[in-house]
Amino acid sequence: MPAEPIYCDVSLPVPLDQPFTYLLPETLRHRVRTGCRVLAPFGARKLTGIVLRVHSEPPAAAARELLRLLDEEPVLDEALLALGRWISVYYCAPLGETLRAMTPLSGEIRRGKIYSLTSAGREVARQLHLGAGGDEPTIAVLRLLDARPLSATYLKQKVPQSASALRSLEKKGFIEAEDVAAERDPLRASAARLHVEFLGKRAEDATHGKLPKAERELLSYLELHPGAHNLASLEEIVPKASTAARSLARKGLAGLAVEAASAALETSFRPPHTLNAHQLAAFTRIHASLEARQFQTYLLQGVTGSGKTEIYLKAIDSALALGRGALLLVPEIGLTPAVAAQFHQRFQGKVAILHSAFNDAERAQEWRRIRSGDALVVVATRSGVFAPVRDLGLIIVDEEHDQSYKQQETPRYQGRDVAVVRARDADAVVVLGSATPSLESRHNAETGKYVRLELPERIEQRPMPRVDLIDMRQEFLETRKNNTFSRALIAAVTERLENGEQSMLLLNRRGFSSFVACRACGHRMECVNCSVTMTYHRRDRRLLCHYCNYSDRVPERCPKCESDHIQFLGVGSERLEDELHGAFPRARIARLDRDTVTGKHDYEKILSGFRDHAFDILVGTQMIAKGHDIPNVTLVGIVNADGGLGLPDFRAGERTFQLLTQAAGRAGRGGTPGIVVIQTINPDHYAIRCAAAQDYEAFYAQEIAFREQLRYPPFASIANILVRSKSEEDALRMSTELGRLVQPAPEGVRILGPAVAPVARLKNEYRYQMLLKASSRRRLTEILTAMRDFAATEKWNPTSLVIDVDPVTLL
Ligand code: ADP
Ligand code: ZN
Ligand code: ZN
Repeated sequence: MPAEPIYCDVSLPVPLDQPFTYLLPETLRHRVRTGCRVLAPFGARKLTGIVLRVHSEPPAAAARELLRLLDEEPVLDEALLALGRWISVYYCAPLGETLRAMTPLSGEIRRGKIYSLTSAGREVARQLHLGAGGDEPTIAVLRLLDARPLSATYLKQKVPQSASALRSLEKKGFIEAEDVAAERDPLRASAARLHVEFLGKRAEDATHGKLPKAERELLSYLELHPGAHNLASLEEIVPKASTAARSLARKGLAGLAVEAASAALETSFRPPHTLNAHQLAAFTRIHASLEARQFQTYLLQGVTGSGKTEIYLKAIDSALALGRGALLLVPEIGLTPAVAAQFHQRFQGKVAILHSAFNDAERAQEWRRIRSGDALVVVATRSGVFAPVRDLGLIIVDEEHDQSYKQQETPRYQGRDVAVVRARDADAVVVLGSATPSLESRHNAETGKYVRLELPERIEQRPMPRVDLIDMRQEFLETRKNNTFSRALIAAVTERLENGEQSMLLLNRRGFSSFVACRACGHRMECVNCSVTMTYHRRDRRLLCHYCNYSDRVPERCPKCESDHIQFLGVGSERLEDELHGAFPRARIARLDRDTVTGKHDYEKILSGFRDHAFDILVGTQMIAKGHDIPNVTLVGIVNADGGLGLPDFRAGERTFQLLTQAAGRAGRGGTPGIVVIQTINPDHYAIRCAAAQDYEAFYAQEIAFREQLRYPPFASIANILVRSKSEEDALRMSTELGRLVQPAPEGVRILGPAVAPVARLKNEYRYQMLLKASSRRRLTEILTAMRDFAATEKWNPTSLVIDVDPVTLL
């Protein structure tokens, strides 16, 4: 007979890398299971963690009692727990923080602290009511808390200096804090995204008391108009519909559901395309692996406009027909409502969308639909790789080279690579799609680890765009002017305007000017928190740090030499738009960059405006280069192709090639052929030449030779180690100690640094960095683990050591 389960090991989201054992209260003994979330006491706090194991082995020290079980059903199954463990080891991240990153459910629980009175505190509060007065913050806080527990955020609004008051009250034992509190109403989505529906219950037979007028009216409207209604539109017909609907839903009289991201978007139905020969050949291979239930990774390398999406859709069809689920990952910026709509149209109610722009409640709701098996097709950004899809048979990673698949905070996983690991353990098929595959993926295809499938032509044999390289040094010699736009680019835009065609202009830098400098002494205006130059934004007439968002006035005099010769240098996207208005006063111009896209709908609004030809010219940063399919665009201009080339990062060439090729690929996707104008001062650089020739193979050959020679990925496993501290001395000392730890370098390992990081100071912290290159992955992991152990024994602040395995950027 198995022993009674009395204890459970819980992984908590803390930097300490070990599970904690808790005693199960009587009532939870047979309910707590591996993979469930629980609320556990930790020091003075209460934390949400994941159960790793339930057992009856008494721990060495007395175990505290578990507080609460948050899920009756596990949120992570065995396979996902195993994946979490793998990530934790491979990316050197604490397991608890990794597991937390794998479920979007923390959003159902209000973040921050909730305060309540202890019995001692209640006593003090009672005495206050008896007359003791005063309006100090501590008293105000006690009075408020006497009525009910309140969040730190609420108290902050009500009481000035509440933070210090709370601290002192907590110290005295009058109040206690809980890190998590009540579950949130999952239907807090905005009216625009909610659907309401009549459930067949009339007010009369459902309630004894009378419903408020607004609710009665809404209910009779819904009864007379069957089907789901968008709440925002309903508000124009039925007064107060939004509040009434939520209240009716709570009473069980109306159904309320968050609408899928795209349903609001009108799309005309488009039947599936018949695959052309290349598409068919690729699809046949994928289908065969699916049918054989055999793990295999395919690299689908297809030029821009070659019809990769149609293959994705067909492959998903196959997976569904075999009774399996499918997951499509897309880059952060690529998951637009238009893309989502395409999938909804094809797979209807089977689709769930997980987007980082959704609020927590919306994501949690989609996640639950996936878990229950309601949604079998998932379209998601990076963290969607953890979606609990039932019997996962297929994972597609679109634009697999995209940087946004790498998470830039702990756990620093690469979503594309995690997809491959997850698929391997699930006997699933992976399709990595791109016109410009990452060097790693293409190399894996060379060595036979992946199978390469090629789409060498655009759909219907549409021509690839013609590319003109403009040497801006020559342009200067000929015109004697430092113009932003070459004569060729001006002529090309003029021609589009005359023909009613559209243009996209790409600039690799946002803001108005790149930076502001003193002409007398050369001093550049830098951020006070970071060692980087600030960018001038004319709309607010201010300087902005793109790293920490610090902003400042433009000084009238140079802070260094007092000269008043302040100069604006370089061109940002804001200035570009301005100059375009000057050159083409009648053109309709829109701009797409991180300044114009602030809310989650801005991006789509600007893009769909452009798609509907409300604008002639779209100006923007990298954002405009990504995967859009707008047939009327026949010109793509790249204003400064060199923007990223000078960066001290071994991927600078690869990034530049990808950006230019992808941007060029936006031209001529409809019936009319397109042209691309690339302005550069490095016309002989291989990344620029290969992009102009749209020649991936030539670029790959050159780049891979360079990587091999210098032992960079894919020929070495690398990790970037960052040590940071508010104190410059500490940062230097810690990095030196870490450096010493790995000296002499073990066989097959090369260590660069420690040295001052390229951005030496960021958000007021001094930064030192070290790059490890190892010929074996195991060796690398061993060294990194030793470093983490060292930092733990030395009791470093957990945030001072950042380990980035397989970094995508060294900056
Ligand atoms: P990619 O992602 O490879 O750049 P898309 O998937 O966006 O290319 O396809 C480009 C265009 O070709 C789209 O408008 C798509 O609808 C269309 N298309 C795809 N496959 C076919 C086909 N077999 N026949 C006709 N048109 C197709
Ligand atoms: Zn100066
Ligand atoms: Zn800054």
